[in-house]
Amino acid sequence: MSKIFKFGGASVKNADAVRNVAEVIKLYPEENLGIVISAMGKTTNALEEILISYFDQKNDFSGKLNQIKKYHLDIAEELFPDRLTPVFTELENVFEELEIKLQKKSSASYDYEYDQIVCIGEIISTLIVSAYLNSISINCTWIDARSIIKTSNRYRDAQIIWETTSVLTKSAVDFSKSRIYITQGFIGSTVEGISTTLGREGSDFSAAILAFSLDCSDVTIWKDVPGVLNADPKWFDDTVKIDRMSYYDATELAYYGASVIHPKTIKPLHNKHIPLYVKSFLNPESEGTIITSDTQGLPVPSFIFKINQVLFTISPKDFSFIGEENLRDIFQILAELNIKINVMQNTAMSFSLCVNDDERKIPVFINRLSEKFTVKYNNSLELVTIRHYDQKTIERVTVNKDILLEEKSRHNIQMVMRNIVR
Ligand code: ASP
Ligand code: MG
Repeated sequence: MSKIFKFGGASVKNADAVRNVAEVIKLYPEENLGIVISAMGKTTNALEEILISYFDQKNDFSGKLNQIKKYHLDIAEELFPDRLTPVFTELENVFEELEIKLQKKSSASYDYEYDQIVCIGEIISTLIVSAYLNSISINCTWIDARSIIKTSNRYRDAQIIWETTSVLTKSAVDFSKSRIYITQGFIGSTVEGISTTLGREGSDFSAAILAFSLDCSDVTIWKDVPGVLNADPKWFDDTVKIDRMSYYDATELAYYGASVIHPKTIKPLHNKHIPLYVKSFLNPESEGTIITSDTQGLPVPSFIFKINQVLFTISPKDFSFIGEENLRDIFQILAELNIKINVMQNTAMSFSLCVNDDERKIPVFINRLSEKFTVKYNNSLELVTIRHYDQKTIERVTVNKDILLEEKSRHNIQMVMRNIVR
């Protein structure tokens, strides 16, 4: 049987981290491994900044680009004392291709340009990691994920073409020829071969796609936390690790912003009953969290915050009800702009919805709605979702908050809130 491992940006953020990845892999000397790796450290954010400058024709990105280059070359130099190692030429080629791209004029599609530029973060990181593993005799084969993961051309949120992806993945990965394969998370390509990305933090999803296509025995996401916690340790001190979790709870939490797992990860695993482990790369032999179907409920209430939210209140200008036709019109616009709803609620004459504040989409959304509706909105809000809530947790997360909207069901409560200003 084979396993899929996913290493995120933090696990390959410098030369020591890359060496640590090798140590984790050494703990599995017999297993067939498909390894999915993200861009190093904060590279994706840095590439996004270059993209924005390029797309908006400010073209003041050369400093940024040099920083990204230097960051990777420094890591490579630390890992490969010999400058003649072929990986240096490979990296040069990728950067050169990016530079040539950036000299050309941008097309009118932000999302398309995004995918062409941002995808290189993963290419570079996997080139470095696979060269390093081979250099210390952990033999592995590098695969360009764009040759196996086939998607629609919905750039920045590409949809997987499962059949083709499965066939291509099965034919590219043959564990009898190579025990370890390394590929990129987050990226794929259209059938015509144009690069696409699967959405921010999409490498977890890539790992699940590979596991699904190859019928693997399990997937492990290696993180800098001991497993799935009941709250983000960045925000709260006394978090609790959840040992076992259902696919269902994991999806609910991930969908509303728990950053441990990308929300799309669970479905393919659930469909083939493939367990998902979340473990610490700093403490790889400890238990972590296992996510499967044979688990009910959560031992403690779990909560997640999503910041940078906008809450809209939409009412028909002609004083009609919020009925099927008005809802259809609103959802039509949301679908066209690919805006996802985090919470919604309606009354007779108004429809409220909370979405991420995407500065490129929200103004267009308001414009489109305003033809038929009166649109009011508040921004800079937070959304908190508590799964398996209790009163104590509600009180804990709403201290000094003004609640603008609340949605409650048996297992979930969601509140859109802002800080009370004194
Ligand atoms: N590098 C991409 C990102 O930062 C994908 C990932 O990390 O999963 O969003
Ligand atoms: Mg990441």
